[in-house]
Amino acid sequence: MNNNDIPASFTSFAEMLTQLPDDESCRKYLELIRWNSKPTCPHCAVIDENSYQLKVKGEFKGLYKCRSCRERFMVTIGTMFEGSHIPLRKWFIALYIFSSHKKGISSHQLANDLGITQKSAWFMLSRMRYVFGIYSGVQFEGVVQADETYIGGENKNRHANKKVLDSQGRSTKDKVPILGIMETSGKVKTQVILDTKARTIKPIITDLVKSGSILVTDEWTAYKGLASEYAHIVVNHGRSEYVKDNFHTNSIENFWGLLKRGIYGIYHQVSPKHLHRYCDEFAYRFNSRKIDSNERFDFSLKNTENKRLMYKDLIKKNVSPEPLD
Ligand SMILES: [Zn+2]
Repeated sequence: MNNNDIPASFTSFAEMLTQLPDDESCRKYLELIRWNSKPTCPHCAVIDENSYQLKVKGEFKGLYKCRSCRERFMVTIGTMFEGSHIPLRKWFIALYIFSSHKKGISSHQLANDLGITQKSAWFMLSRMRYVFGIYSGVQFEGVVQADETYIGGENKNRHANKKVLDSQGRSTKDKVPILGIMETSGKVKTQVILDTKARTIKPIITDLVKSGSILVTDEWTAYKGLASEYAHIVVNHGRSEYVKDNFHTNSIENFWGLLKRGIYGIYHQVSPKHLHRYCDEFAYRFNSRKIDSNERFDFSLKNTENKRLMYKDLIKKNVSPEPLD
């Protein structure tokens, strides 16, 4: 296969648009990133540069036949692009915007930008969030901050220093607690939780944070009793203590600010059912903030494998109407 016409990479969104002008070039670029341009059969995992190229209506459009198992395949099989009626180039544009815009993009905006329906845009965003959620799995060590916050809802019954300003008028049904864990390096993981009790919070921390690490939290009772596992530093926010022996929870709190500005500013309101996907989206972007947009795009493309979220999985149960994002 001749790959001379495929760009090795591009340095900006504008360059991507010029270098990948159609679905065909996007397909070839995906083959380069996923397969190193060597067709790899997803059915039997055989890598064969000489797989048969099958023509559809007289044209080769990326459909191969494996010489080994004789099954047909395309580069999009097993990815979030598989079976989508949305052209690959629109997916590429969406993925670039999604992974590079710090604050994300709403489905209304994406629908306008791509000339597709809001329903399609919402589904694309959901698939992307799903993929990035799966890749946010990490373990934490060293100095680790843990903190919980709420998205939406009312301040009643809330841990004093976790009260949300300007929460009046928000409905109570979207009040959702989230636990955040952040390493000093800046790596973050969030988890939507049922409540902020010790029995909920502790197992998550012991699961995600290596024992022997330095754990920094505020004085919330749910964090009590973790000293057997960690060097536990408690910063007493109730007593206006924000730094203790140079330890603090400012980094995770800054992340909460970013997350909330994103959710309230761009997405306006997120239903509790989908909140974890938004949190994963922000965590993914945050965790990859040190690589540039183009590297992140390639990285995202590589990580689209086998993580196809079906529309029916998203809308099952009582999710109608869709969130206003
Ligand atoms: Zn095969």
